[in-house]
Amino acid sequence: MHRRPFCISALVLIVQNSLAAQTQDSMIDTIHVCYPGENGHLAGDVIHMPIDPPTLESLDAAEQAQSRGAYNIETLIDSGRSDNRVDIVFMGDGYTEDELDLFHAQVNEQIAFMFDKEPFKTYRSHFNVHRIDVISNESGIDNDPVEGIDRDTALDTGYWCSGIERAICGDWSKIRSISSLAPGDEQVIVLCNSTRYGGAASFGQLISYVAAGHSAADWVLLHEFGHAFGHLADEYQTGGPTTYTGPETIRTNASIYDAEDQLALETKWHDWIGESFPEFDGLVGSWEGAMYSSFGLFRPSVNSLMRSLGRQFNMPSVEELVYFSHIGARVIDSHSPQGEFHGHGHSFSFDVVQPVGHDLNVWWQLGFDVIPGSEGRFIYDLCELQLQPGEYVLIAKAQDDTPWVRDEQKRMALFGNVWWNIVIDTPPADRTADGIIDFADLIHFLNDYSNEDPMADLAEPFGEFDFWDVSEYLRLFTEVCPTHGDG
Ligand SMILES: [Zn+2]
Repeated sequence: MHRRPFCISALVLIVQNSLAAQTQDSMIDTIHVCYPGENGHLAGDVIHMPIDPPTLESLDAAEQAQSRGAYNIETLIDSGRSDNRVDIVFMGDGYTEDELDLFHAQVNEQIAFMFDKEPFKTYRSHFNVHRIDVISNESGIDNDPVEGIDRDTALDTGYWCSGIERAICGDWSKIRSISSLAPGDEQVIVLCNSTRYGGAASFGQLISYVAAGHSAADWVLLHEFGHAFGHLADEYQTGGPTTYTGPETIRTNASIYDAEDQLALETKWHDWIGESFPEFDGLVGSWEGAMYSSFGLFRPSVNSLMRSLGRQFNMPSVEELVYFSHIGARVIDSHSPQGEFHGHGHSFSFDVVQPVGHDLNVWWQLGFDVIPGSEGRFIYDLCELQLQPGEYVLIAKAQDDTPWVRDEQKRMALFGNVWWNIVIDTPPADRTADGIIDFADLIHFLNDYSNEDPMADLAEPFGEFDFWDVSEYLRLFTEVCPTHGDG
């Protein structure tokens, strides 16, 4: 492949398996490679690479390691349960046992960097981060610094992936087998023990590789994460045909339509056009040159992180990243209790995945009706609602009203609700059936009890009138709401 001019500030390479097309015999990934180009911008190639099926050797190795409990696994950011979080797993390749401290330091540096950048800073609580210590027999990775150098490493990573010098890839089946030992592993990041710029991001396997010792490794990884997590396009204009003539792209941040057409068609980033966002690469409009072509494709901002290192994501890209953060971690995290409920003696609550810096809008409804004053509440005791006998659906709702998401479809992902079916019967303690539980009811019960009326035979052993009947009545009496019926 081509040799690229060395650029000290921005040496990057990304491989993105943007499409994993199932063929009759094997999986073919469309792989996208990013590396530094001219003027500080990124440049790239698109290649196609078959994904080999897992080898018996790699599966055996992973299985043996699992059964031996060979890996030290630590959770570095624990935001909550893994089935409602985006779990990121960091693993290392080419680190000997003596180099684990270096690996730990590089992981910590990457995490600190990523969660100091928006939108991950605000939406940190949507992510868990785990680290698996994988020890290699030899230090460094294959084909470093030149092709043909072979090292004995745990994950078999190396440069010259698919014949491209700066592309790093490894044994995906080993990597995925080991990552599955973590509590969750939606995204896997493999830090490679090298100072030479290089990396890869496999969209199909959701594995990102980066040479962690390079000075720009943190920016490289953030750019890669934009691909692997946010499905974002590159916004640089080299590597493909000079003029793009294909159909509209499926990427949120590249379009065949310029600003005027987007506004007319109400498509792509039309919601943002004409406004400037100083935090997110400034003005949103349309600049020709994106996704490897100089003409025929437009990008939303002048020079975002998807075009150059050391930059911000632009506003439409941030919208997409926030959207995917909510796909991976829904706003309502848990609720209790579960089931259908009879009577007033219950209280209902829920928790949300809380962003940094702003609260979610939360409110409660009985059916379609918003409960007045319920905004901002996470718990309700049914007695507070003073429900008359009947059937109800109690609904708790939460919505992230961040200004960073405008698209109506995407905003749906920022909304959540949970509900409970509730039946309020005529209270058994209401002996006088006047809708009020009061002293008169207690007198009524005691009268029945002293007359050994079956109506007062409330508890086992049935047929006897004893302490247990009184106890049961007092339980029913106190179970209902003190103010029930007063409203
Ligand atoms: Zn890229």
